[in-house]
Amino acid sequence: MTPRSTATLLCALALLPLASCSLTGNLAKSEGDTCEIHHRKMEVRQVAFSPGYSGYMPVFNRALRKQFPHHGHTHFYEDHSYMYVPRKGQLHVCDECDRQYEKWTSQHKGPWP
Ligand SMILES: [Zn+2]
Repeated sequence: MTPRSTATLLCALALLPLASCSLTGNLAKSEGDTCEIHHRKMEVRQVAFSPGYSGYMPVFNRALRKQFPHHGHTHFYEDHSYMYVPRKGQLHVCDECDRQYEKWTSQHKGPWP
């Protein structure tokens, strides 16, 4: 490997984390368009992603899975198996999940996303 190609490789590796921060994940293509909890047709929306994993918050995680899996507020990106850190993503959003998320988070104190 020449010094120039080594320098190019190092620059590319240094810029990789910056590039991944700006990526937008798209899970809408692999999801169904009907909410399995509320049986309503969902629409694709862009939502914000936050670092973290709801599995570390059992109370929130249980409510997320059973009451509002398709809410349109900020999601933990590790809940969606991302290997990089997207700032936003395309997801199917259910209006009733949105209402349930807002109701639940207003009734429970916590650092919810
Ligand atoms: Zn729903």
